[in-house]
Amino acid sequence: MTATILDGNALAQKLRADFKTRAEALAAKGTRPGLAVILVGEDPASAVYVRNKVAGCEKASFHSEKIVYPTDVAQDVVLAKIAELNADPKIHGILVQLPLPKHFDSDLVLDAIAPEKDVDGFHAENVGALMQDQPRFIPCTPYGVTKFFEEAGVNLKGAEAVVIGRSNIVGKPMAMLLLQAGATVTICHSQTKDLAFHTKRADVLVAAVGRPKFVTADMVKPGAVVIDVGINRLDDGKLCGDVDFDGVKEVAGAITPVPGGVGPMTITMLLANTLEAAERSAK
Ligand code: NDP
Repeated sequence: MTATILDGNALAQKLRADFKTRAEALAAKGTRPGLAVILVGEDPASAVYVRNKVAGCEKASFHSEKIVYPTDVAQDVVLAKIAELNADPKIHGILVQLPLPKHFDSDLVLDAIAPEKDVDGFHAENVGALMQDQPRFIPCTPYGVTKFFEEAGVNLKGAEAVVIGRSNIVGKPMAMLLLQAGATVTICHSQTKDLAFHTKRADVLVAAVGRPKFVTADMVKPGAVVIDVGINRLDDGKLCGDVDFDGVKEVAGAITPVPGGVGPMTITMLLANTLEAAERSAK
């Protein structure tokens, strides 16, 4: 069997066409969605993510501001900037690129963002709202994954779903969304005993580990929907996911590639959340 390839670029393009219509309707009322992205330090991967997020805004005709600080900037300087952006009516979404340098208290910084501008959905209040099934903003990567399920008509009710990874950014919110959609959810992590026992039962398998080609064909149930969140850079400079794509596509029913799968959807859902924030502020 060769799996259906779930094309993130095509799905992103489809969703962004709808955003354009909504942004035009907002513009007619005098509001242009605005996103501010704060980058601290010189981590090359973070710099690429920030560049792509700003480029995504430009393509969608959103207003965007990129604020870059050196690694040794004082936390108070960043907190003061966040307070300024919280009060800025041109800005509807604020994002602080993670990870922050070691001298930062990341939770404190994320919680300084006004919850109604927290388009990453990482503010404690928004995490709580998601847990209570009343999300204000769904974290962009898991939100993008749910769009693959919708597009491919995956029935999650009663499905066995396994998420590998329990980060606040991907694994935990992903598990919560699958649970809310009616799946029976197992969350695996570095201390899970016999990982393959769990993954082989999965009708839906989401890998968010950060290890290249970690999930192999023998770990996958035939016909499963496999979502690869991982972005890993190999020694030859090429990108690859957490799933051994070539092997797993012969077993799975559907699979996302890397690149061209979850990555473009993450930025798309950041735009969706920013647009939503702008629409709410215009009401
Ligand atoms: P983290 O490093 O925060 O989390 C990784 C998770 O994997 C942890 O929960 C860890 O377990 C678990 N893990 C590590 N080793 C094993 C193992 N041997 N067996 C089972 N579980 C293991 O990463 P993130 O969640 O932030 O990101 C995961 C991947 O997704 C990365 O490759 C990242 O680059 C990518 N990513 C991609 C995005 C996109 O847009 N496509 C967006 C965000 C991330 P434990 O908790 O026990 O340590």
